[in-house]
Amino acid sequence: MRYPPAFDRCVSCFSRFQGIGRKTAERLVFDILTRWDEAAVQEFAHALLHLTKGIVICPDCRVHVESLPCPFCAEERKKAGALCVVATSKDVYAIDATGHFPGTFFVLGTLLSPLDNRGVERMELERLKQRIVKEEIKEAIFALDSSLEGDATVCFMKEELKALPLKLTRLAAGVPVGATLEFVDRGTLSRAFCGRQTL
Ligand SMILES: [Zn+2]
Repeated sequence: MRYPPAFDRCVSCFSRFQGIGRKTAERLVFDILTRWDEAAVQEFAHALLHLTKGIVICPDCRVHVESLPCPFCAEERKKAGALCVVATSKDVYAIDATGHFPGTFFVLGTLLSPLDNRGVERMELERLKQRIVKEEIKEAIFALDSSLEGDATVCFMKEELKALPLKLTRLAAGVPVGATLEFVDRGTLSRAFCGRQTL
């Protein structure tokens, strides 16, 4: 027996989420059918319909915000002279929530695929360079995944930004203190090389 078409349509929608397979999608739709009342379903549908209408992407930092001017690009933040480069808007909100970073952000939108350099076209590097110059940024901090893609992106950006007079740093990079190089994993080591500083 097949599921009713209305059920199947919903399952297909939920299956679009990254990391949600068919089985999980079916469980979510059953959850709605069995536990949600009509008001909750209406609220969910309404929230989805208005999701994109209630959000804009800041042309400067590329963060998803409620409205412009973007709070992450406020003059007060620009005074810090530091710019944090991240992969997604979600990272910006996570870093901002720590309360430790007073500067501005730039969302790359993707990480570089190390095998074929795919992703460069989505990063809008010219816009990033213009901002670094215009805002007189003194330090660019890379807050990217500890992965091959994150490492490749940092290496690539370092090369791209080397002509600009600013310090480049990366969060949590480097060989652990006391570790012998032969026992350090490849990812940590490549980051340590990539992030090494001129003495
Ligand atoms: Zn902004």
